[in-house]
Amino acid sequence: MSHYIPENLPASIQHFIDGQFVDSVGGETFDVLDPVSNESYVQAAAGQKADIDLAVAAAKRAFDSGPWPRMLPRQRSRILHTVADLIEARDQRLAELETFDTGLPITQALGQAQRAAENFRFFADLIVAQSDDTYKVPGRQVNYVNRKPIGVAGLITPWNTPFMLESWKLAPALATGNTVVLKPAEFTPLSASLWAEIFREAGVPDGVFNLVNGLGEEAGDALVKHPDVPLISFTGESRTGQIIFGNAAPFLKGLSMELGGKSPAVVFADADLEAALDATVFGVFSLNGERCTAGSRVLVERSIYDDFVARYAARAKAIVVGDPHDPKTEVGALVHPEHYEKVMSYVEIGKTEARLVAGGGRPDGLPTGNYVAPTVFADVSPDARIFQEEIFGPVVAITPFDSDEEALELANNTRYGLAAYIWTNNLKRAHNFSQQVEAGMVWLNSNNVRDLRTPFGGVKASGLGHEGGYRSIDFYTDQQAVHITLNEAHSPRFGTGGR
Ligand code: NAD
Repeated sequence: MSHYIPENLPASIQHFIDGQFVDSVGGETFDVLDPVSNESYVQAAAGQKADIDLAVAAAKRAFDSGPWPRMLPRQRSRILHTVADLIEARDQRLAELETFDTGLPITQALGQAQRAAENFRFFADLIVAQSDDTYKVPGRQVNYVNRKPIGVAGLITPWNTPFMLESWKLAPALATGNTVVLKPAEFTPLSASLWAEIFREAGVPDGVFNLVNGLGEEAGDALVKHPDVPLISFTGESRTGQIIFGNAAPFLKGLSMELGGKSPAVVFADADLEAALDATVFGVFSLNGERCTAGSRVLVERSIYDDFVARYAARAKAIVVGDPHDPKTEVGALVHPEHYEKVMSYVEIGKTEARLVAGGGRPDGLPTGNYVAPTVFADVSPDARIFQEEIFGPVVAITPFDSDEEALELANNTRYGLAAYIWTNNLKRAHNFSQQVEAGMVWLNSNNVRDLRTPFGGVKASGLGHEGGYRSIDFYTDQQAVHITLNEAHSPRFGTGGR
């Protein structure tokens, strides 16, 4: 089946180290597939330890002796605003490449490109408004916080919305004066190369931004184990997070981990049901369901359950699945055949565990490519695998509940705790439920709309630490306490024999 292929695709995907595009030292490469044809369309450099060593050395030089960490915040801020301008000016191209590489619908990829620009604007503004604490002990001491960038930050990112998630780490890491080595996901390396040109054009000095492509177990692993990388910010699966946690432990590195999710969307009978339907359908099927905060378990109060399930299934059946580049497409192609197999295996598991009410396999008319029909399972029991495990595709589990207590128990009954969505018009219930649900982020009567100042992160197996707003600034900086004595120092006089 022929499909849209963007013009001027690169002949190869290289690393970017110390201001230069380079191949791997040993010449290793890997294939990158287009998710619609599943054919390899380009070879990317497969970074090894030697490539990570070069990138970290360049980043360390730029940190130790380059201008970036020493610039006035306003100077860095201007450059980062230029980065945002350049992303905005290229949003169509970025979206086109992202859609081609990931299979995400083009309209949604465009929104993600714009969000990437916004991440840079936000942190460019935040660092010039940054203030730090000073504490006065009258007549005795002044204490102040000397905030400093930490050094070389290792950034490891996943393949869902790759460019936007990279921006989420790059913007605060760079804004605070660190230098970075980015290791993007191997399924989707295409858009990451654009950073190199954007940063160069904006005036980011050589060595500040370094990019090493490659597999997690090779390039990612070498970055995590590099002694000159004191910080690792990771977004990906909980299982990978555990491995990285272990590998970073001997070095006592600073870690920020945004991991998996199996977030509940809880619909009470008193909710605005049409709005809840819109949001819960969007919440799991947008971004192809490849979304960490997907509301992939919909819990529905028994009195409205049958009606809600019927309306939900009808919506899912009417979702437009197709060519990711077509602006009418609502669900595109999953990123990679390996991931497609994983999602399809859960669809088969679901058929043995629950009642299939929509989808359940490949959509009609799309015989090739990683397409999955939006799939809805109803009457899903909490011990079902499709209730407990992250599927990360267009598959949703719906479960009824009879009381607030049962709803809360079901909502909390997984190892994950990333997001929760609650639909009710009862104010007390809304707040009580929100405060008790085990989730890092809660949305009341809304889908996932996030103000960049708010904390982002999960609890339980969904993450470690919170980024977002000032919390990102805290992660990427040391807060050194400087204590100044204003009067005589009162030290006990050891070694004077009490005289
Ligand atoms: P993944 O864990 O397989 O890979 C993520 C990144 O880690 C990739 O760059 C990969 O190459 C690298 N990696 C793999 N093994 C490594 C190792 N041993 N050492 C160092 N790096 C290694 O995740 P994925 O499949 O790319 O992404 C999907 C997952 O990400 C889902 O679980 C999703 O929920 C999660 N996610 C979470 C958030 C969040 O903010 N909480 C956001 C997006 C995605």
